[in-house]
Amino acid sequence: MAYSYDDENIFAKILRGEIPNDTVFETEHSLAFNDIRPQAPIHVLVIPRGKYVNYDDFAANASDEEILDYTRAIAKVCEMKGVEAEGFRMISNAGHNGVQEVPHLHVHILGGRNLGRMLT
Ligand code: C5P
Repeated sequence: MAYSYDDENIFAKILRGEIPNDTVFETEHSLAFNDIRPQAPIHVLVIPRGKYVNYDDFAANASDEEILDYTRAIAKVCEMKGVEAEGFRMISNAGHNGVQEVPHLHVHILGGRNLGRMLT
């Protein structure tokens, strides 16, 4: 599937330094920052620096180096936030039915409380 990336999406602007973010961790290919509308005591978004709309786009088109960097960045944020012992949730919304607000791949890491059965 071909993906069309919108350079004006808010995470593209964050990556260009045009709007601020509360950075938690960053690498050559990835950036993690606190969600501005946290749904749990810990709510971090992890994004690749590359222009990927969603996970499918990333898996199909990112380099092995980007994929390794991104998956390890997600794990590093979990370690830094100490969510692994008590448990946490990772979510990546995609498209219309997934109610994806920002069309740049992001994984939500949620933790710090029992998240119940909510889907997002
Ligand atoms: O629905 P979706 O998975 O696309 O969620 C996008 C997330 O990006 C929301 O949780 C929203 O609070 C967050 N966001 C942010 N900083 C912005 C704009 C959106 O953390 N400047």
